[in-house]
Amino acid sequence: MTVTNEQKSTVKKRKKPQSLMRRMNISMPFQDKKDAAGSFTKAYTTAFLLIAGISLIVHVITSSITQIQQSSIRNSFFINQERALVEQISSSAAKHYSLGEELDFDMLTQAVNQLKTNHEKTIASIKEQSLLNPLSPSLNKVYFEQPFLLDNNINAYIDKANLYASYEAADKSIERVEAQKFLQRKARSLLQPILNKALADYQTEVILRIEFFHRLQLGGLLVVLVVLLFEAAFIFYPLAKRTRVYHTMLLKQALEDPLTGLSNRRAFMNRSEAAKTRAYRDQEQMIVALTDLDHFKSVNDTYGHDIGDAVLKHFSAVLKKSLRGGDIIGRIGGEEFAVVLPKTNYETGKEALERLCHDVENNPCPYVSDEGTNEELTYTVSIGFTNVSFNNEMSIDELLKKADEALYEAKEGGRNRAVYAMA
Ligand code: GH3
Ligand code: MG
Ligand code: MG
Repeated sequence: MTVTNEQKSTVKKRKKPQSLMRRMNISMPFQDKKDAAGSFTKAYTTAFLLIAGISLIVHVITSSITQIQQSSIRNSFFINQERALVEQISSSAAKHYSLGEELDFDMLTQAVNQLKTNHEKTIASIKEQSLLNPLSPSLNKVYFEQPFLLDNNINAYIDKANLYASYEAADKSIERVEAQKFLQRKARSLLQPILNKALADYQTEVILRIEFFHRLQLGGLLVVLVVLLFEAAFIFYPLAKRTRVYHTMLLKQALEDPLTGLSNRRAFMNRSEAAKTRAYRDQEQMIVALTDLDHFKSVNDTYGHDIGDAVLKHFSAVLKKSLRGGDIIGRIGGEEFAVVLPKTNYETGKEALERLCHDVENNPCPYVSDEGTNEELTYTVSIGFTNVSFNNEMSIDELLKKADEALYEAKEGGRNRAVYAMA
């Protein structure tokens, strides 16, 4: 079927035009129902808060381990001191009682004073507790609960030591003997065993407590690792994938004509300028041509916009097939396509462009009519072209203007032909 004059005058639209997005063949790579950026932000914020929270907990656990270790060192030191001082008091009192030497008396009173001070510090240290380092159950039990009552027993021991020290060295009264025997007996049979037990129980308790916190710490770190892995797998990886797809899509949209897949004006100009630079460098000739479909408005008017689009696509396929692989083709207007033929002089260029006119005329565009029958639409193209010799300094834009002048002549001269204009 050809575009006849009758059809040209028929101004009717057969089909409803498609949306601009469909006509321009613009599609989004991810047709999400949900707002993808929003859900990424939500997921990322949740993961971030989770990691921040767990890191904070791990930090609290680490500082509580440090606190437990510090109080363990301090308490163990005080308990050991108490053990040594009780021993010192017991032996100094025994020696002083049998020998009556001043030195033993001094050592005794010094040890008693030290035990008093040390014991006050021990009790203060045991009672010192915080959320991260609670009261030690084992020390609490040994010092303040039945049957051990170490706090009371040590205070009683100090009182008895002070009582013994208050007697004269020459005093051989029964009370003084009793006091000295009490200090020796209580030290061996009560205080030393209870202090040993306090130390052993406390050390076991501290080890268990630190192990527990270490396990918590490890658990926290594992959760952080798992969250990070989830973040990498379900946030960063898809995000990177989307970014790559959007980048490719944007690049494609920036350089490609969506209908025909040919270079758009921007890409065509870039590629042509590069080809012209190469032509100057290699001292070669080059053809710049402008092609325009004939009476295309009436194709749209007669057959509808969709078939008009099909003709444009068909023409771009014929262009690619008819020209050489290295030739540059771009859709620079509605039904205007520009062409650059590198390494081509006037004669071969004219030949190639006339062959193109011939190929277009002899390759009708197939389409399906409204009645469902397979039809063909014959159309033609007019071409204006110019040649660039290596000493021609015109820009591609200026060369296209020259080609446009020739195209005007081609149209005027009856269309379906290639006309030359000298640059
Ligand atoms: P001439 O032979 O003098 O070039 O006549 P013409 O009808 O081809 O020229 P005109 O410039 O009057 O009309 C060009 C038409 O191309 C008008 C416009 O609707 C149509 N057109 C431009 N872009 C597109 C497109 O993307 N798809 C379709 N279907 N038509 C397009
Ligand atoms: Mg036009
Ligand atoms: Mg036209």
